[in-house]
Amino acid sequence: MYKENCIFCKIASGEIPSKFIFENDNIVAFNDINPKAPTHILVIPKKHYENLDDIDDIDLMAEMLCAIKEITKKHDIKHYQVVTNNGKGAGQEVFHLHFHIMAQKKID
Ligand code: AMP
Repeated sequence: MYKENCIFCKIASGEIPSKFIFENDNIVAFNDINPKAPTHILVIPKKHYENLDDIDDIDLMAEMLCAIKEITKKHDIKHYQVVTNNGKGAGQEVFHLHFHIMAQKKID
């Protein structure tokens, strides 16, 4: 599912060119444009879901967590935060589900 005017749908589809840190059939990851930590990566499903409330695909959720583990392992990041802001009141600004990976260790 692709939502018109969704910036992350455009990134996931390649409409907005972006350097992917990770990609498989269902997920992409890329650097946050406004990093709040030396490493700040966003992991998103290619399909459009607004946030955690909107997703009931357990397999995809598990796959996203596995992708986070794969990304951190590949870059030897051992200490990191995984955050998702669910809803405006929690600070969600982009309404396409994403997990933030934030770490003090900088990756190339
Ligand atoms: P949230 O507040 O949880 O919705 O986080 C949205 C995040 O997306 C913020 O950290 C933004 O800096 C980031 N962001 C917004 N637009 C882009 C973009 N075009 N490329 C990469 N990151 C973006």
